[in-house]
Amino acid sequence: MTDEERAARTREYNRRYYAKHRAKLIADAQAQYALIRSDPTLYGEWLARNRRAHAKRMTKPDFVKRKREAGRRTDVKRDRLKRNADQVRRRNENPALAALTRERNSRWQKDHPDAVRRRRHKRRARKKNAEGSFSSADIAAILTAQKSKCFWCEVDVTQAYHVDHYVPLARGGSNWPSNIVIACAKCNHRKRDKLPLEFSRNTGGEVGAKNRWYSFSQD
Ligand SMILES: [Zn+2]
Repeated sequence: MTDEERAARTREYNRRYYAKHRAKLIADAQAQYALIRSDPTLYGEWLARNRRAHAKRMTKPDFVKRKREAGRRTDVKRDRLKRNADQVRRRNENPALAALTRERNSRWQKDHPDAVRRRRHKRRARKKNAEGSFSSADIAAILTAQKSKCFWCEVDVTQAYHVDHYVPLARGGSNWPSNIVIACAKCNHRKRDKLPLEFSRNTGGEVGAKNRWYSFSQD
């Protein structure tokens, strides 16, 4: 498939997606804009960003074309990922915006079961290749240290528990016991690839961004 064909396919997909979810997308955008307006800091940033983007476009006639080319370069991609992470962090500091994002993400997941499966697969592969390992004895020791409570919300996990990475594998964490905490199913699913502080903000402070209070001699 050529780049043009791929671009045409994406355009067609986006067009159909927009047609199907038009009302909801507009409502979301309006809700998001209302929230941005209600917060002077967010609104200021939003205005500045739009003004900058517009000014840039006006001075460069081939702006869109060059953007597209830049998007294929890995160094540009890395910067963009960093910017996106900053944006996500700011957004998660606003509980209403965070809730809106969560709702949009869960709708996206429902609409894209194949993509969700692919991601899950990738995640498992990463887990298998991560540095370090832990044994069932390590897990038993961690459970005891945590008094059989979820590391994050402290609900009792005697009946069922999940093995969670304190620093996610996707964020450079290891499989060593020092990076393992026991979590309840709900916290494990909600935390995903977030760092402890991000998780805490994402839940509106419902769970604390605790430090691990026990350590192991293995590392
Ligand atoms: Zn929990």
